[in-house]
Amino acid sequence: MKIFGFGTKSADEKLAPVFFERKGVSPGEVAIEITHCGICHSDLHQIRNDWDNTLYPCVPGHEIMGVVSEVGEGVSKYKKGDRVGVGCMINSCQECDPCKAGEENYCDGPKSCTLTYNGPKKADGSNTYGGYTTQIVVRDEFVLRVPDALESEYVGPILCAGITVYAPMKHWNLKEGQTLGVAGIGGLGHMAIKIGKALGAEVVAFTRSASKRDQILEMGADKVVISTDEDQMNEAAQSLDMMINTIPVSHDIAPYISLMRPNSALIVVGNMISFPEFSPGPLVFNRITLAGSLIGGIPETQEVLDLCAEHDIRPSIKMIGIDEVNDVLDVLEKGNDGDFRHVIDMATLHNHEAVKNEKAAEIADPNRGAVVNRA
Ligand code: NDP
Repeated sequence: MKIFGFGTKSADEKLAPVFFERKGVSPGEVAIEITHCGICHSDLHQIRNDWDNTLYPCVPGHEIMGVVSEVGEGVSKYKKGDRVGVGCMINSCQECDPCKAGEENYCDGPKSCTLTYNGPKKADGSNTYGGYTTQIVVRDEFVLRVPDALESEYVGPILCAGITVYAPMKHWNLKEGQTLGVAGIGGLGHMAIKIGKALGAEVVAFTRSASKRDQILEMGADKVVISTDEDQMNEAAQSLDMMINTIPVSHDIAPYISLMRPNSALIVVGNMISFPEFSPGPLVFNRITLAGSLIGGIPETQEVLDLCAEHDIRPSIKMIGIDEVNDVLDVLEKGNDGDFRHVIDMATLHNHEAVKNEKAAEIADPNRGAVVNRA
């Protein structure tokens, strides 16, 4: 299949039109015509090689919404025309304990799970290309059923931002009436507010951006604390049962630890680079768990899609055309202090000049791995 997309060959180039061949559907796989794709801050980290693991060419996108265009032999769950989603993974070993438990994101098979773009988590030299493209092919276990109630433009951000904040709420057992703090109110953070409220928590938002206050309260947050205001932070000391910290860069974690009650959990999902030195004393004296969490498994991703449909939760999105993608990456780099999530209307790629005139740079074909170990 000839596929067009937007990608880059190095950390310092802008995304530009590319084309490549995706292998057609094999037994057990589903081909999807992409209609929308969210822009996650991870796309920026990966494009810029912030995590020192980027495989180039890099064609990002893991908040994918689309329509099934073809199914391979043996696929019974989906048919042509179905509205479906694809999140951050497209393959895994399917036989290790985490895979059997529906936690493919922690697959400990030989290659770990295969990410939707930037290939296997433990890179073996092969690459995958994500959702800033016209079509994708995925084994059916990694395709998500989209509830009728969810309009297509809202689906993508639930598949990464939504699941990444929902999974730790489940794992660390957020209870009704408990106080959940959320630090960094961008793509992930604003979904944590909405989902935390749906689970019955009292939600406190910690933001640097006073300009977001009204929107954050409209989303349902019970309180907004300006994280750069020392008095406000002191007032909130030892008030949280759980915090989800989505801040994407290295920052002093000590002020966030001091927000935690005894026996609470502070879960880092944003910064994966480094923290400045901090004292573990407050963790010890208050039996605070400091933990990390990576996206979520496929069953839980389906669960959060269904939960959003049931509770009328919609990500707060700004729709953009594919030509605006570099501008949005600049906005994220500068701190995303205005909008919450950007979603690309893929009709703008399907109808793009570069696609119509076939004027895109050819890049090497991706390799999504075999469909193995089907029960
Ligand atoms: P966004 O850019 O949409 O939001 C991040 C928010 O953090 C901003 O809106 C801002 O909130 C705050 N922020 C930004 N820069 C700074 C800064 N320099 N200092 C303090 N606060 C800052 O990012 P996403 O929500 O898409 O992603 C957040 C992080 O989560 C990224 O690092 C991403 O890679 C990671 N991620 C992790 C996943 C996982 O599985 N663990 C999955 C997906 C993403 P405010 O204006 O309110 O202060």
